[in-house]
Order: sequence, then structure tokens, then C-alpha cells
Amino acid sequence: MTIFEKVLEIYQEYYICLHCLGRMFSLLGTDTTNYDRGKSLLLTMAMENHRVYLSRHENHEEAIANLKILAEKAMFAPAQSVLNREGIEYNTLIISEKCYLCEDIFSNISSYAKIAIQNLNNLEFKDILVGNALNSQIVNREDTFKAQFNLLNSESFKNHFNREVGKELSNNLKKPSEFANPDITVIYTLSFTSSEVTLILRSIFIKGRYNKFIRGIPQTHWDCRACRGKGCESCNFTGKQYKTSVEELVSPEFIKETKAEGLKFHGAGREDIDVKMLGKGRPFVLELRNPKVRTLNLEKIQKKVNKKNKKKIKISDLVYSSKEQVKNLKFNAENTKKVYRALTSSMENVTKEKFEALLHKLKIVFENQKIQQRTPKRVSHRRADKIREKKIFQIDGKFIKPNVFEFIVEAQGGTYIKEIIHGDNGRTTPSFTEIFGFPIECKKLDVLKIY
Ligand SMILES: [Zn+2]
Ligand SMILES: [Zn+2]
Repeated sequence: MTIFEKVLEIYQEYYICLHCLGRMFSLLGTDTTNYDRGKSLLLTMAMENHRVYLSRHENHEEAIANLKILAEKAMFAPAQSVLNREGIEYNTLIISEKCYLCEDIFSNISSYAKIAIQNLNNLEFKDILVGNALNSQIVNREDTFKAQFNLLNSESFKNHFNREVGKELSNNLKKPSEFANPDITVIYTLSFTSSEVTLILRSIFIKGRYNKFIRGIPQTHWDCRACRGKGCESCNFTGKQYKTSVEELVSPEFIKETKAEGLKFHGAGREDIDVKMLGKGRPFVLELRNPKVRTLNLEKIQKKVNKKNKKKIKISDLVYSSKEQVKNLKFNAENTKKVYRALTSSMENVTKEKFEALLHKLKIVFENQKIQQRTPKRVSHRRADKIREKKIFQIDGKFIKPNVFEFIVEAQGGTYIKEIIHGDNGRTTPSFTEIFGFPIECKKLDVLKIY
């Protein structure tokens, strides 16, 4: 069966628009639109049948019948003109019908684009992608139709719609289509009678480092333990366990500048609440969700955040980042070296000489060795109970008073430093307490460096 015969077969039963006709043969012929493909098909058929009609040969009657199908059922204007010119009557009573396959969605592409354009007002973006969720009625009708006429070279309604609206949007907005990582994805939820537009704005990622100069604030917001964030008397109806956090001190300026709907703070590991983060700071990535503004003056934001939080926290080295870097950040946190300073107190008084001897022993036991660390008691309510092996690289110590010593510990990321010192009742082994032979407690801990 030729394409022409198939087209006639279709129109004897259904009216479909030129866009949809072209879509049924979309894989045939390239470098053209479905609309042009459909129109060319019908025009060629009108021309061929006109030729046969004029030749007055055999098939003369058939040519007239075919022209009538094109004029009446396909409502194809050039076929109507041919019949008019040749003085052949045809039925003009069939008033304009809606396309069986799209119910004229494809004839109204510009109005679909318009809905999105209104929604895109006031948003900053450099490229765009269109997607859609089709109502099952559209899909089922199309599938049944293709099966009925055995149409094997067609394209999907979905692709066709996305491309046409995408083109219209690109032309109107002067923004290119981007498939891999568009700033904005416009999703149409489409049925024959309704359409709804949802926008997905790609998150912005910003990488930097933070310092924490005070003790007592966590890295990120913690829900109140009593009410789980709902607000209760014990949290003064704030829903928070701690008044503030590094995240909460850093984020307002970013939210303000990007007009984002939400934010997630990804840290390269985290220090305890009572631990300072000194030196060059700890890497973090801010993920700003649904941002309306994407071009930021990072230097200006950094200055503002730092000025506002002087002596509490500081951020530095801000650069644009990506989702992939968040994954790296988490992965690297476990594998990078960190340097800590611990101020400790001992249950027994020792002389400076005794301390030096103990420190020497400590170095032999720990340096470049692996320790076994079972999940500490204090975090066991939120972390799986298991034994982790961590490497200690270097240890240095300073005698301050007979029962006060300062240690510098260089360890693998994720090592629980306080536990290496006091031993956590044997859950961490070896420990300073174990080597010294009497309890050592960590009083103050600072992170000095993260490699
Ligand atoms: Zn159609
Ligand atoms: Zn509460």
C-alpha cells in the first residue's frame, strides 16, 4: 500500500489536521516539520489526481472520488479549489470538524506557549526545555489509531508537542532549548480540554568554606527534640533545638538575592556543636532551590554575610558549583585528612617528664596506625551501630599544667576525636585513656585544618 492510499483510507474514516497527518509519517523524509510533511502529502495527492482527471483516461472517476475525499473529508483547500475550477460539485456541508487526534491542540501551539511565557515573567534563565504529561485519553486514542492503520513510521504525540512548543518558546523568548541541564523545564499537563503549566527551576549550587568561631551552634538547623519542629514550650515555639546554626546564619542573604524557595546546606562532614572550625574553614555547598535569579555577585554576598556575623562565622572562597560536586564533597569528607586541637584534662596529675614519656608512647601507638571505633554512645541514637576503622596520621602534645594537656591530632575524616581521647568505655581502641592508664577528657576541641 502506498502512502497515498493510506492517507485516503484514513480520511475516509477520520478528519485529522495537517500536523497530525505529518506526524503519522514523521520518520519518512527529513529536514521538514510535520505540518509541512502533511501539507505536501495532500498537495501532491491533489496534483496527481488533478493530472489523472485532466488526462481523461481510465481512473478518471477514481480521481474525482479521491479529490472529493481531499476536499470534503480532509477539508484541504487546494483540492476544493481544483473541484471548483473544474465545476465538480462536492459536499460543503461538513462544517469544520476538530482533528480526531489532537482536537486542534497543534493548531493552537502559540496559545500554549503564551501560558508558559506569562509564567516565565520575572525569572532569570539562559535556556529552556519543554516536557509534558499527557492525559491517557490522548495517548490511547493515538495508539489505537496507529494500530488501526498500521502506521509504522510515526512519531509520538509527546515528542511532537514538546518540539513545537519548545520552538515557539525559543523564538518568542530568544532563549535556546537545552536538553541536558536546562535552567527551566516547562511541564505541560495536557488533556483535550485542559492544560496546566508547571515550572521546574534548576537549583543553583554555590561552593565555599566556612569558619565557626564560637561553640554551641550546629552546622545545620536541628528540629527541637521534644516537638520535632512543630513548636513547643521547651523550644519557645521556635521548633528549633538550637537558636541558630551555621546554615541559618549563612543562608538569608542567599535566599534574598536569588529569591529561592528553599535551601540545603551540604557540608564536607561536620564538627560537633561545641567544636570550633578554624584555619581555612570547612568546604560546603549551598543548594538553592527554585531560584528566580541566577546571576549573583558572590563577593558582595560574602561580604554581607561576614559583616553581619562577625566573630560568629565567616564564609570564603565562594564559587559556582554543581550537583556532582555535592557528591564529591560527601565522598571526600570521609577520605580527607583533618587536623584538630584538643584541650584535655586528666584525672591524675603528672610531671612534665612523665607527660613527655606518655606522649612518646602515644606517638608509637597511634601514628600512621588504624584504630577501631565503634559508633560512640552519644550519637548511637542517630547513627548505625558499627565498628569503623580510621587512620591516625600524627599526634603532638603540649604540657600545660600537671592535669591539663593540649594535643594536635591529624586524623582521617569521620574520626570521632573526643572518643580517641577518652576511649568511650572501650568502644574506641586504642585511646589516650587506655595508653595513659588513667582517664583523659576532651574539654575543648577545634578543627584547625581540612585538607
Ligand atoms: Zn491534529
Ligand atoms: Zn519544641
